[in-house]
Amino acid sequence: MSGSAEVEGIPPRPVPESSPYGEPYWAAAVDGRLVIQHCPRCDRLQHFPRPWCTACLHDELDFVDVSGRGTVYSCTVVRRNPNPAFATRVPYVLALVDLDEGVRMMSNVVDCAPEAVTVGARVRVCFETVDDTHAVPCFTLDPEGT
Ligand SMILES: [Zn+2]
Repeated sequence: MSGSAEVEGIPPRPVPESSPYGEPYWAAAVDGRLVIQHCPRCDRLQHFPRPWCTACLHDELDFVDVSGRGTVYSCTVVRRNPNPAFATRVPYVLALVDLDEGVRMMSNVVDCAPEAVTVGARVRVCFETVDDTHAVPCFTLDPEGT
């Protein structure tokens, strides 16, 4: 896990906004697991969590554990952020990660120099603990590469 963001005098990272259909995603993150919403009718994965399947509109979706491994599809280095909770984090990497299971998600790549993150880099999930009931999936560069 990546460390807590709590720094004296700096507001903590905002907690994720929860919804009934996204709750399993956030609960799994607290447990150190990455889960993705799955449609049992058409067997598709989708991210972010929604109340229905975007392919077939089925509305009884479940969640499945995924490997947490993926490839950077796109990335940028954020060098300014007026939000006090993020101002001390700059520079940081905002990335679109294609999970090996075929789902794209937006996240941060952490614990490395921002310049080390490139399109095509292999990454694996880690979790930033916000507080006792919230954690945010992030990624680190995968030392095993492919
Ligand atoms: Zn479906």
